[in-house]
Order: sequence, then structure tokens, then C-alpha cells
Amino acid sequence: ALQPQARTTRSTCCYCGVGCGVLVHSRSDADGREIITGVEGDPAHPANFGRLCSKGRTLAESARSLQGRILQPELRATRGEARRPVDWGLALDTVAERLARIVERHGPDAVAFYLSGQLLTEDYYVFNKLAKGLLGTANIDTNSRLCMSSAVAGYKLAFGADGPPTCYEDLEHAKTVLFAGSNAAYAHPVLFRRLEEARARDPQVRWIVADPRRTDTAAMADLHLAIQPGTDVALFNGMLHHLVWEGLLDQDFIAAHTSGFGELKQLLREYTPRMSAELCGIEVQDLVTAAEWFGRSPAALSLYCMGLNQSAHGTDKNLALIQLHLATRQLGRPGAGPFSLTGQPNAMGGREVGGMATMLAAHRELEDPAHRAEVEALWSLAPGTLPAKPGLAAVELFDALHSDKVKAVWIACTNPAHSMPDIGRVREALQRAEYVIVQECYAGTDTVPYADALLPASTWGEKDGTVTNSERRISRVRAAVAAPGQAKPDWWIAREVARRLEARLASPGAAPLFEADTPERLFDEHRALTVGRDLDIGGLDYAVLEREGPQQWPFPADAAGAQARRYVDGAFATADGRARFHPTPYRPVVEQTSARFPLRMITGRLRDQWHGMSRSGRVPALFAHSPDPALRMHPEDAARRALVAGELVRIASKRGELVLPLELSDEVASGTVFAAMHWSGQYLSSGGVNEVSLPAVDARSRQPELKHAAVRVEKA
Ligand code: SF4
Repeated sequence: ALQPQARTTRSTCCYCGVGCGVLVHSRSDADGREIITGVEGDPAHPANFGRLCSKGRTLAESARSLQGRILQPELRATRGEARRPVDWGLALDTVAERLARIVERHGPDAVAFYLSGQLLTEDYYVFNKLAKGLLGTANIDTNSRLCMSSAVAGYKLAFGADGPPTCYEDLEHAKTVLFAGSNAAYAHPVLFRRLEEARARDPQVRWIVADPRRTDTAAMADLHLAIQPGTDVALFNGMLHHLVWEGLLDQDFIAAHTSGFGELKQLLREYTPRMSAELCGIEVQDLVTAAEWFGRSPAALSLYCMGLNQSAHGTDKNLALIQLHLATRQLGRPGAGPFSLTGQPNAMGGREVGGMATMLAAHRELEDPAHRAEVEALWSLAPGTLPAKPGLAAVELFDALHSDKVKAVWIACTNPAHSMPDIGRVREALQRAEYVIVQECYAGTDTVPYADALLPASTWGEKDGTVTNSERRISRVRAAVAAPGQAKPDWWIAREVARRLEARLASPGAAPLFEADTPERLFDEHRALTVGRDLDIGGLDYAVLEREGPQQWPFPADAAGAQARRYVDGAFATADGRARFHPTPYRPVVEQTSARFPLRMITGRLRDQWHGMSRSGRVPALFAHSPDPALRMHPEDAARRALVAGELVRIASKRGELVLPLELSDEVASGTVFAAMHWSGQYLSSGGVNEVSLPAVDARSRQPELKHAAVRVEKA
């Protein structure tokens, strides 16, 4: 008998923004079906050099099982009835017909798209062109709004452009590492291994962790600043005050390459180390030590993600941290710089194609007439076609659905009925919507029940495209096996609907917008839009990626290769080339504790789970580290309430409640409780942490404050 052919495919892990390279082994099983038999780290990939974390190592197991996969399109005509399986032709015609009717009756802004940082760049590209180029609405936002939008706002305000100035090699060169609210040991494990190895090689390397919780990262730090939730700006301002006072700034750099320092310096007068330490709830000497280690370091690197971003003051938190680097010139050289670690595998790629409500393709601005004209020319659109104003960002989008301003939403590759703040209201919004399209691979997510049209998407291991990781490195994602049933790539589904809508809505004689019919052709369209922009990848195509492996942007056609670090010469992406300082006053968390809600609840990740667990929850081994959901509470707080470990407790906020078993732990201070974000209605009868979270957003980044809510805890 013929032996089944074993194959190995080079690809990229689909979980986090580290973007580890993987080798995917596959073969045909006895029934002739191709299956993924194993996954190992790719020794040639510059993000991980062969390492993988627990999630990456178990990718084969999560990908192999067809249990719970959506294998056929389903439709229903009214909310009261069950969906019935249909073929793709009917599904696509129906979705296009329903969307076209809504646009014709109510205008393009009655339709919204809610996408995902898990989508590939090519998927994102088609959706963005469909929304902005064809329909003329900027109502296209993504779960990246819940993830990195404050980092984007911070970079743009300080440097004039989105994107970190650093690269992974900096992890090996840094002498002081400041983890600002980042539990990298859990959230970015492979990068954390690189940091551990660097510290093992050089005992002079110091780690500072600023985090209200004694996470595994904090437990390994040389200095743990257990700040009160939300006081990061006070900490950074206090550190900078000390550095000003001690004369540890780079005055020449400030004078030659920045503007606005005088105004910031005025504000910093108030932030004496003593007052800042008091606001943060830490010892003043610890704040001073952190400032000294940072300011006197040959190379200081800051790592941050949701701890700063998921806040109604996230932009200020990002700016205050970046300003520590600017004032001391801790950037633009090996081992130094502010480094936002992307949560999702392709939040960067989504921004690059402009697939969000607040931006246009290739880091262009919707409000800029010249930028709109450039994209209109490149897409062969009539002048004035593109929307001139930002659309609805995530929280506003579901609010508009709730109030009937938006009639239809197309949700792809994400689970807002679990991940959005105040999910009770999001569920109501989905219930009230006139039409809900859900494009998914797993049937069990909290959002699927709301779908009027359920479109089966292929997933990791079955689809082709590219992703961009935290260090601006673009890697190929490759299909190792065929998609099961009738599942299709996300770009294909979006394109098929787009072509049907185009036939109905486009002006006579308009150039066809959706001719690109492969991921490679879509990537070529995307890269043409980047030429001349800060993220120029005019010289990077699939052939280069095939031949030379993953590459960082910028990668212009006329350059020798990619640039590992940005702003090395002190020239920034602002109009005058100078980085900008901004006054960043400390403002407390939006929801203060009260007699009714006396505890602060903070949220975070588990080591081995990912987001709403739709993928990682398919792997039994990934439950070994944290088998059950729990609310962690300081033993003194539990004793005061006569609560004992293991009993069920009700956690209530002004918005809703959930029930979890109680776990006693002194990793949180008295007055603060912690719950992991992953457990959802799939696992809990009462729903997840977002039953109690609040929808307050940062005014500039529009990112919600998912990290903190005032709650009450009592026996269930
Ligand atoms: Fe995947 Fe992130 Fe783990 Fe790397 S660190 S294997 S990208 S989950």
C-alpha cells in the first residue's frame, strides 16, 4: 500500500503578537483527509528561533479536531426561527441583498463591520476596501480597539507615526527592563524566555515591574512597584521629575530633536517623587530607585501592553512612558526604547491596511483630503467617494446598534458577546439589530446565537496570507491542509459579497474594485498603497518573503533591506521632524470605589489560555495550569466578609454580575480582586468578567477601560 505523504509547511503561530514561526507537519489520514500531525518551532524564524510556548506547541491538537466547527453556511429569515443550512450561492446572495437594501434605505452608515486582530492582512484589506471604498462608510472597527489603540495614539502623538521604534534584538541588549503593567511571562512567553536568557548571561541586567498584582513576571523582578490600579501616569511623571531634578536628561537631544518639553516640565513640578509615590501607594525610595535605574542605564527598554492600553486614560499612560524615553534619549539605539507588545497576532497588519474606523490605508488619515485623494486614485474611485470622517469605534458601534442608528453588523473572527465591556448591553444591541452576519469557524462562541447569517470561515492551518508581529515583522501564514466542509478563507467570503454588492451599488462605468483573487494579489495591492509612506513595503512581495523569510517594515523598493530600529538619527515622523512632548496629568480610574462597590476588580490573562478560549479551550492539556475559573482575593478581605476559599461568590458592579469560585491569594493587595478574562458564557452559567466591566473609553484612542471596575463581592 502507498504510504501517505507527509508534508512540512512553514507558517506563523496564530495566537499572540510575538508571531513565532512554526513548522506544520501534515499527512493524509486513512479516509484521505489531510490532518495536521504536529507543530514545532521554526529554528529559522527571527522571532523565536525554534522556541514555542504551551499554546504554540499544542496548535496541532487545537487544529485537528472538527468538533464544533461550522461547516456550512446557515441563514434565517426572522429572529424567531432556527437557522437552516444553505449553499454558498444562496448565503452570499442573501447577505448582499440584505446589506444592499439597508444601504439603499438608510445610507451606508447604517452598516458596520466588526473585525479582528486575528484576521490576516489580506482578509483585512478586502473588508476595508468593501466598507470604505465600495459602501463609503468608515464604520469598520475591530477588536484591536480593545487591544492596542492607545499605543497607536501614543506613538502618533509623540513620534508622528504609528509603530514601535524597537525590535526583538533589543530584548538582548537592554540593561534595564521596565515592564509597565505587562505580565510578559504569560502574555508574551517566548519574548520573556529571550529576556530571561539575556539576564542569565548578564547579571547586571535589572528588571522593574510596575503592576498592582504580584504576577509571575513581578515575582522575578529586581524591583516590583505594586502600584494602585490606574496610577501609572503618576509613577512615570514622578520618575521623570526625579530625572529632571538629578540632571539625568539628554538636554542636547531635547533641544535638537523634540518640542514641548517646557510645558511638560511645568506640569512635572507637581509630581514630586513623594506625592507621586503616595498616589501610587508605593514607597518613595522605590520610585526613586526605578528612576535611577532607568535614567542611568546604558540601555533602558519598556515593555507594555494591556496594562497601559485598556484604560480611559490609556493615551496619557503611553505618552508619559514614551516621554521618559524621549527626555533621556533612551531610544534609537540597541536595547533602548518604548516597546508596545501587540496582544493579537495581526493587530499591526490591520492598522497597516487601515482596517479601523479612525484610519485609511497605509497609516493615512480619513480627515486628510490629500490622503483620501491618494487612496481614491490608487483604488480608481471617483473623487469624494471615501468617507471624510472617522466611523464608529468598537464601543460606539455597538451603542449605535443598540439605538438603531446602525441596522446591520458583520462580525468576523471575533466574539464581542464575550469580549466587549458591559456585555449585557452588547447582547441587547445584537438582539435589537435588524441583521447580524457572523463569520466564524467555531459554533460555540457567545456571538454565534445572534447570527442571522452564519458564514463558515477557514482558520489557522487552512488559509494563506501574512501577519505583522510586534516588531513590525511581516511573516507568511500558509495553509497546511484543506479547510473542512464548506469553510472558506475570510478574504474570499468578503470578496464574494463585495462583488455582488458592487454589481448592485457601484456607479455605471466604475472600475471593478475586487479583481484580486488570491492572497498574493491582495498583498500586492496593499503594498502598492504603502509606497512613500512610513511603512513603505514597496520592495516586499511574496517572492521576497519566500526567498528571504520574514521581514520588518519599512522595506522600500530602493533600500537594501528592512530597518530594525526607527528614529536612530533623531528624525521623527512629525511634520517638523521633532518628537513631541505632551503634558500628561494623572487622572484616576473612571469608576471610584464606594460603600456599595468597595473593591477594585482588575483583569488579566492566564498562562495557557487565549482570549475567549474558542481555540485554546479545545486542548485539555492547556487547562492543567489553571483548571478552573476563580476570583482571587486577599485573605484579609475574605475574612472580613466571612468568605472561604472554594465557595461561590457573586461579583457585582453597577452594570451586572457574575459568579465565580473564590481563591485566596496575596498576589493582590487588600482592596483589589483579580479575575482572568478568558472564561465566558461557554464555561460559566453567569457569563465572564465583562458582565461587570464598564464602557468608558479614552477620548483620543477610544479604547475602553477593560482593566478596572468597582465591584462588591458576596456569598453567591
Ligand atoms: Fe504563539 Fe505567542 Fe506562544 Fe509564540 S509566544 S508560540 S506566537 S502564543
